[in-house]
Amino acid sequence: MARIFCIANQKGGVGKTTTTVNLAAGLSKIGKRVLVVDLDPQGNATMGSGVDKRALTLTVYDVLLENASIVEARVRSDKAGYDVLGANRELAGAEVELVQLERRDKRLRDALTAVQTEYDFVLIDCPPSLSMLTLNGLCSAHGVVVPMQCEYFALEGLSDLVNTIKQVHANLNPELEIIGLLRVMFDPRITLQQQVSEQLKTHFGDKVFNTVIPRNVRLAEAPSYGLPGVVFDPASKGAQAFVEFAQEMSQRLGSA
Ligand code: ADP
Ligand code: MG
Repeated sequence: MARIFCIANQKGGVGKTTTTVNLAAGLSKIGKRVLVVDLDPQGNATMGSGVDKRALTLTVYDVLLENASIVEARVRSDKAGYDVLGANRELAGAEVELVQLERRDKRLRDALTAVQTEYDFVLIDCPPSLSMLTLNGLCSAHGVVVPMQCEYFALEGLSDLVNTIKQVHANLNPELEIIGLLRVMFDPRITLQQQVSEQLKTHFGDKVFNTVIPRNVRLAEAPSYGLPGVVFDPASKGAQAFVEFAQEMSQRLGSA
């Protein structure tokens, strides 16, 4: 049975997509069967997994509108080592179209039930908003992984996200919990980052993952080659940190 996780943070550019594709590649490296669901109309997780978003005939958009099943719409990325339910600009329209439909926040959840025995992990890359798309992600998931940069405003944004997760937990999806906070783009030479990192541990305790993802240029270069950093340059510090993180996730869930 797949364990389903959202990679979420309503801020843009905090490392959600990088975390999604590299965690997926890391889990695939340790033998797990993984599906990445791209819920962002920018389609960065799709492209970053080596799948051309412009060439897709079926995407997560068709799944949300029940024009296609996940089995029909998913594609395999042999290079990345996992399956992808892709997204492109078309998905931006779903926001409006879903409003009038029944079970509009449970569309992805309903669709995932058909494939849940085929995967060990489903990772959902959320858009930078607390929208109907993100809500579909949160309603589908067992847990949320929150990537964050250790900067001053990061803590402020976190309380909005934590409140949203609490509300979804109370009203829509009782299974939902925060699995952990992942410190990304970390630079230990910056005092403020160390301080915020300590504050995070004080407030959230063992909800903060032990693994820290360093700022590493190879992780930023990888998407332009259509590869997760873990595949693009496995020896890089960033790639090694994500493989370590995949192991930590797996252990934390008791499935290592
Ligand atoms: P989001 O999905 O939250 O918008 P991204 O994963 O796209 O964020 O990351 C934003 C930018 O930062 C991208 O250009 C990405 O390549 C870069 N980036 C992400 N993580 C790292 C890292 N650990 N080191 C260096 N660059 C990174
Ligand atoms: Mg993104």
